[in-house]
This record gives sequence, structure tokens and C-alpha cells, in this order.
Amino acid sequence: MVNHILIVGAGQAALQAIDTLRRKGFTGQLTLVGEEPWLPYQRPPLSKKFLSGGMDREKLLFRPQTFYAERSVQTHLGRRAVEIDRTRQSVRLDDGTSLGYDALLLATGSTPRHIPVPGANLRRVHLLRNIADVERIRADLANARSLVIIGAGYIGLEVAGTVRELGLPVTLLEQTDRVLSRVTAPAISAFYESEHTRQGVRIVCGTQVRALEGADGRVRSVECEDGSAYEADVVLVGIGVGPRDDLAQAAGLECLNGIVVDQHCRTSDPNIYAAGDCTSHPSIHYGRRVRLESVDNAFEQSSSAALNMLGTPTPHDKVPWFWSDQYDLKMIIVGLSQGYDEAITRGSPASRSFSVCYLREGELIAVDTVNAPKDQMAARKLVAARARPDRAKLTEPNIPLKDCL
Ligand SMILES: Cc1cc2nc3c(=O)[nH]c(=O)nc-3n(C[C@H](O)[C@H](O)[C@H](O)COP(=O)(O)OP(=O)(O)OC[C@H]3O[C@@H](n4cnc5c(N)ncnc54)[C@H](O)[C@@H]3O)c2cc1C
Repeated sequence: MVNHILIVGAGQAALQAIDTLRRKGFTGQLTLVGEEPWLPYQRPPLSKKFLSGGMDREKLLFRPQTFYAERSVQTHLGRRAVEIDRTRQSVRLDDGTSLGYDALLLATGSTPRHIPVPGANLRRVHLLRNIADVERIRADLANARSLVIIGAGYIGLEVAGTVRELGLPVTLLEQTDRVLSRVTAPAISAFYESEHTRQGVRIVCGTQVRALEGADGRVRSVECEDGSAYEADVVLVGIGVGPRDDLAQAAGLECLNGIVVDQHCRTSDPNIYAAGDCTSHPSIHYGRRVRLESVDNAFEQSSSAALNMLGTPTPHDKVPWFWSDQYDLKMIIVGLSQGYDEAITRGSPASRSFSVCYLREGELIAVDTVNAPKDQMAARKLVAARARPDRAKLTEPNIPLKDCL
């Protein structure tokens, strides 16, 4: 019998779990622990409107304090969970408080990777994950003459776009031969490279950072292996994230590139569940384990976890989707393209509205859309249905994607 549910980590997944638990009739004790001082808030605007100063901190919150009070959620904010005692079913916080649980949900998210080079700890070198990070970056940008971003993934490109709109010179350094190389096909990379270049971002691909050089403890330039150097008043490191699974590991839970959970979001301890960025979970659709960093995944997985904690078996089995906003471009990615053997572009990138369909042995496994909402809607259905579209039709943008079978 579950009388007390404890949630560790107060982000997207936590909010969704609280909402689902109370909507589905859980009347027991509900406790939320978060190391940040804020109620759960949205992270996507951190690299966009909140960074540019176009959005207040309060607007980031998913729900106001009253939402939690009305649902009798006991909150411990600004408190980190430091130890799980699985035998006593309790969690110790960094102020010594001990909280018991019948079921525990780990929703600890992910953490940005540091760059392992000399000078990484200089002042004005930043990572970007939370409100405090952005407030520090904004303060440094206010009197800066140049920004260098290391890493041309989503965060790097989104920040480049936002900061260019503020008028500051931006250089983007990427070690692979193209932007977004980890997640998209060359056609999408080429498109985003040309858009950012047009907006004045200097993009340098195929370059490996060797060191950050500074003076008076503050970064001044970024040096690369080939001897090139880039002046930098501020540096943002955006080279990916890793799962926050330290707490779970210390408690002896199985972890492998994230907290290992089953389809029902249960960890190797039947009383402990996990959801969101921190998990490695089985994707039935793709037939392999995945670790996803997206709002959609945190939302869907924690909804399932909540139902499973209440005794309603609910597998987490959705085709994932992601989005990225840069300038006036909305990219929506449906599915996972890794392992594709053919990528077909629909429409012309020059029109700034096009899609790339990824096939593996004829099956549509993923679709990236740029300003193409109709393709995006159709893609969700077709990818989930394991559709095998007609290649000739796919290349013809006048034929709606939904009719390309
Ligand atoms: C700048 C930025 C832009 C993004 N843009 C997009 C986007 O456009 N589209 C998209 O789909 N996704 C985007 N994402 C990703 C998305 O925000 C995450 O996938 C989502 O927030 C994951 O939710 P979560 O609940 O798993 O983790 P989080 O939202 O990260 O919440 C985890 C919380 O747990 C806390 N915590 C960790 N360990 C402990 C502990 N031991 N004790 C107490 N608290 C702890 C953390 O401090 C954090 O507050 C973006 C992320 C960032 C950082």
C-alpha cells in the first residue's frame, strides 16, 4: 500500500508526476525535494527568451505556489537529496532531514558536461542548465564584446541565435565537420549553418579546443589544436549532458548511461521509480535502450511512472519528439534517426520550409521538419505505424506526407 510518495528533483518530470498522481486520485502524502530554490519551471526558454531578457523568472514556472498548496504537496526547495537508504526506505537531505517513502520517484534530470581542458574553470566560462546559470551569463554578456560557444548542438545554436539578436559578435566552434551532427542529416546541418552565417554567427567546424586562456582569473581567448585562437569575453560550453544518476548509483541501483528502468519506469529496486532525462529506458518501438533529453519524454515517462506507482500498469512506449526554436525557424524532430540508411529531403531548404525523412530498410524511422507543421503531424502517425512510404512520392513536396504510402 503506497501512502507516501517522495519525488526527488523538482523539474518537468516532477511537475507532471504530481499532476497525474492527484488527478488519478492519490490522496496520500506527497513530498517534493528540489535542490534549486524554485518551484518546477520550464527549461526551453532558458536558451531563448529568458536569456534575451524577454521573459521574467516568474513566467518560467509551470504552476504557481497555490497549485502545490491545493494538492497538499510538501515542498523542500533549495535542498539536495544526498543519500537513499533503501532498507529503511528513506532519503537524507543536505540539511540532515530524513524523509521516509513508500514509493520514491527519481526525477533528477541531467547535467551539462564540462570541457576537460586547461582553463575550463576561469571566470566567465559558463555551462547552461538552470536559472542561476542564465542569470550569470546575462550579467557577463551585459558588458561583453564577444561570445565564443563551444559545441554546435541545440543549446549552442539556440544561444548563438539569441545572442546574435542582441547584437553581440558570436563565434561557434564545433569539433565535428558540421553543426547538429549528432542528431540530424547533412541537409539539416547545412541549412542551419547557412542561416546562422547569414545572421552573422562565425561558425568554425572541424576544430578541437585545446585550452582556454585567461588573465586575472578571467577568460580572454579560446585556443584550438591547430593553433588558431578566438578572442572571448565570455565562453559558453555546450557539449552535451550526462544523466544525474549519482544518487541512484550510490544507493546501488543499476545505472548504465542513466538510471536503468523497465518499461514501467521501475528501477532495480521495486519501490523506486525514475523518469525524465536521468533514465535509460527500453524503447519498444526502436528495440533498444535510450536516454532522451526532451520535454516530451519527461512528460510522458513521468505520467506513466505515476500511474504505475498507483498500481495501474502503464508502459511508457511513445515515439519521442523534440523541438528547437532558432530565429523564426521551428524545427520539430519526430522519432530517432540514428541508424538510418537513407535520408530523403522533401521541399527546398531555400524556401525555409522543408523536411527530411529518415528510412531504415524502407521503414520511416524519423522525420525532421523545419517550419513544416503538416509534415510534422503526419510524421507522428507514420513513424508510430512503422510506415513504409513510397520513395518517389516522398521526394514530391506537393504530395502530402500522409499520402506518401
Ligand atoms: C537551455 C535548455 C533548453 C532546452 N530546450 C528544449 C527544447 O527546446 N525542447 C525540448 O524538448 N527540450 C529542451 N530542453 C530539455 C528539457 O528541458 C529537459 O529534457 C527536461 O527539463 C527534463 O526534465 P526532467 O524533469 O527530467 O529534468 P529537469 O527539468 O532538469 O529537472 C531535474 C531537477 O532535479 C534537480 N536535482 C537533481 N539532483 C537532485 C538531488 N539530488 N536532490 C534534489 N534535486 C535534485 C535538478 O537541480 C533539477 O532542478 C532544454 C534544456 C535546456 C537546459
